[in-house]
Amino acid sequence: MSEEAQLRLISSTVLVLGMRWTGETVAKQLSLAGVGKIILLDENPKLLSDASRAIAGSNWRNKDSEIVCRAWSFEAQRSEQMIADADVVVDCLDNWQQKLLASDVCMLLDKPLVHAGGSRFRFQTYMMVPGKSACLRCAFPQAGIDDVPLETADDAGLVAIMSMVAAIQAIDTIKVIARLGISQGNELHKFDFLSGEFESIRGLDPRRDCPDCGRANSPRI
Ligand SMILES: [Zn+2]
Repeated sequence: MSEEAQLRLISSTVLVLGMRWTGETVAKQLSLAGVGKIILLDENPKLLSDASRAIAGSNWRNKDSEIVCRAWSFEAQRSEQMIADADVVVDCLDNWQQKLLASDVCMLLDKPLVHAGGSRFRFQTYMMVPGKSACLRCAFPQAGIDDVPLETADDAGLVAIMSMVAAIQAIDTIKVIARLGISQGNELHKFDFLSGEFESIRGLDPRRDCPDCGRANSPRI
């Protein structure tokens, strides 16, 4: 990685939403990659302290990475405040209402959102970039993800699968911060680890008639 790319990582702040799912692994990998400040957010203080200790005590820890824990529930009332100081937001939430809220607020505040969702053996990842991407509310139906569970998923899946999904989220986060490679921002990737089928859905552009992604695509006053 170039010195310029490393400097971008060191001077960046990433907000990782949710510690019950892929959050801890994503944070570990971002720390190792040299992200300067990683904010862990979860309403459960024990999950936060467990994740923070695991990162600090592991070989993954990068001394230059600052880890900040925020024991907050991700809810509409304070969501803008929570996201405001982040350069990139990583969606490791296991609650679909909160995922949609993260999409809304990231579009509003012009922050990239690194989404992952799914359960058991089927997952999807999506790098949402305001101005280039459809919001989650628009992207899911276009990607054939209509059956959105509204409750917390009980069955998160195998740790091996979680680790892989987390690694993809970490790679997407690093790419967008360090400006590595080409990111169209309008592709959603679906993984079925049982059948071994992977699928990319392209062309998830902002929709002009959407108040969230359409707004992000219009000229700012
Ligand atoms: Zn939209």
